[in-house]
Amino acid sequence: TNKFKEGLTKTRDAFVGQVTDLFSRRKKIDEAFFEELEEILIGADVGVNTVMELIEDLRDEVKKRRIEQPSELQPILSEKLVGLLTESDESSQLKMNPNGITVILFVGVNGVGKTTTIGKLAHRFKQEGKKVLLAAGDTFRAGAIEQLQVWGERVGVEVISQQAGSDPAAVMYDAVQAAKQRGVDVLLCDTAGRLQNKANLMEELSKIYRVIQREIPSAPHETLLVLDAATGQNALQQAKLFGEKSGVSGLVLTKLDGTAKGGIVIAIRREMSLPVKFVGLGEKMDDLQQFDAEQFVHALFA
Ligand code: GDP
Repeated sequence: TNKFKEGLTKTRDAFVGQVTDLFSRRKKIDEAFFEELEEILIGADVGVNTVMELIEDLRDEVKKRRIEQPSELQPILSEKLVGLLTESDESSQLKMNPNGITVILFVGVNGVGKTTTIGKLAHRFKQEGKKVLLAAGDTFRAGAIEQLQVWGERVGVEVISQQAGSDPAAVMYDAVQAAKQRGVDVLLCDTAGRLQNKANLMEELSKIYRVIQREIPSAPHETLLVLDAATGQNALQQAKLFGEKSGVSGLVLTKLDGTAKGGIVIAIRREMSLPVKFVGLGEKMDDLQQFDAEQFVHALFA
């Protein structure tokens, strides 16, 4: 919870400061009150559709429970936010292979924090006593392989790679073989993130899927789409673009520490039928938190 609190400082200062101010300053719940609340929520990137629903909901509660004081409404707002985030029962738990190698694929546009997330997650698994291997499947972006190797050294896990420009599916094949030989528990695979050529990218991904599945039929066990929360509504657009098409099973929202618009988590959760598995709260190894809706909202309001 402390990690969440620290990492969400910017969002908390902006969003919660405003909300708390609104709830204490206004003496009654009227149109002006709802209008101001609406503005604050939209400003935090909660998303227009979601905000409209939320406000309607709050109006109903006010009527139903005959609430008069804004202060009585604040706990109901946080309850509603938790509700929005936990609505579907998909869990933030990663799906693991119960009998063999767990393969996790990472997809997402360049610069969103894919490599960093892989490094952080490798560290996390290692701390749990698991044997981890990384696959440098982004053979396209200059420096991507080296960057993953730096993380591999930092965390103390091996990286399987080939030369820049080589076939990512071949790297994956090597990586799966190596994982089998070395008795690896978790294989984390980087992939290319260029978006200029979406058709090619999807083709490349399906080839990677085929190669992995030929070797481990139940794999990949997760395909995580990494999104930069600081890009706000842009992240939501990327989520829709990559979306359910590329077999994405969950989301990682990075750089929440760098934005005052943490409300984007709610917008994305709401508009995509995909669970948020992790959030990035900084650049260091330990700055990755498993997503927990209640902790998240409590960290915002505490
Ligand atoms: P990739 O191109 O998707 O692999 O992105 P990188 O992993 O190279 O990350 C791009 C930049 O974002 C780097 O400078 C990272 O240190 C930074 N970054 C990644 N995740 C986070 C995060 O959760 N918080 C902050 N503040 N920076 C992050």
